Amino acid sequence: ENISNMIAAGEVVERPSSVVKELVENSLDAGAREIVVEIERGGRKMIRVADDGEGMSRDDAFLCLERHATSKLRKPEDLSALTTLGFRGEALPAIASVSRLTLQTCGNDEGEGVEIQVEGGTIRQSREMGLPRGTLIDVRNLFFNTPARRKFLRRDETEIGHIADVVTKQALAHPDVQFRLLHNGRCLFEVRRDSSLPERIAAFLGRPLLKQLLPVEVEDGVDLTLSGYICPPEVNRSTSGAIYTFINGRCIRDRVVQHAVIEGYRNLLMKGRFPVVVLFLTLDPAMVDVNVHPTKHEVRFRDQRRVHDFIAARLKQTLQPAAW
Ligand code: ADP
Ligand code: MG
Repeated sequence: ENISNMIAAGEVVERPSSVVKELVENSLDAGAREIVVEIERGGRKMIRVADDGEGMSRDDAFLCLERHATSKLRKPEDLSALTTLGFRGEALPAIASVSRLTLQTCGNDEGEGVEIQVEGGTIRQSREMGLPRGTLIDVRNLFFNTPARRKFLRRDETEIGHIADVVTKQALAHPDVQFRLLHNGRCLFEVRRDSSLPERIAAFLGRPLLKQLLPVEVEDGVDLTLSGYICPPEVNRSTSGAIYTFINGRCIRDRVVQHAVIEGYRNLLMKGRFPVVVLFLTLDPAMVDVNVHPTKHEVRFRDQRRVHDFIAARLKQTLQPAAW
């Protein structure tokens, strides 16, 4: 049993940022309004995600550490109408199998919570505990029992960079949720529940961007809508630009969309200039096939050309109104 969890871990848990991704997705699925992510030493020492979501009962807390104990798919139809981020019931057991994991959760308003400690997939201890409603998961010594995997961890700065990227994507996609990310006790960023999309973009990508953001808000009259913000090509940025695209609410780095964005910036991307793009594309779910692989999301549009040209044209129009 634990071997299969460790095999799943090989697929689901590639590095600290994959743990953060799974835990934050669970918090969002639990309806959290506030999510705090605390990291120590790039995630190799500690990854902790705390939320104020619906929490779990004592029984569910034990159950969720078992493989395929998802609470999110109750009937086969749920699979095609996937509304939650998780559905495989694989992440928690996988993470627990390659770390020292502590789960604290409370699913009632009476403060009757539970704490369970797991080491390398084996439950070591559990006790009742007074807790506010919500869930906290504390992951220590990731890959302590899989040295080969531990060797692939990069420098702390690299790992925290990946983690920041994961949190940024979710924070952009969920403007009604408050997010905070701390590394070694220092706050890397915080966005409040009521902060606007431009404020969120500025929080992640830098204050100076704020006055350069160009709004995009357009419908094609059929079923496509595109909204968000883009920036004229940026010079001298510390990062190499940033392209965040969301398809029906999920952050997806799709080839067709990516190409359309670059096309929209054509002739503007001189050497050393980078696009900054945060765009939300929505379309009829029947027009897009979302293949939800545990680690990466891929989509196939029924009409690629239409989606591509719609995005590219709108970006050109926004960035080069004169030429248009
Ligand atoms: P999945 O998300 O695919 O269902 P996971 O292994 O990520 O599988 O989680 C297993 C189950 O544990 C979830 O279905 C959910 O019921 C419960 N769970 C996990 N994290 C949380 C959380 N932060 N708040 C409430 N319930 C949670
Ligand atoms: Mg999950």
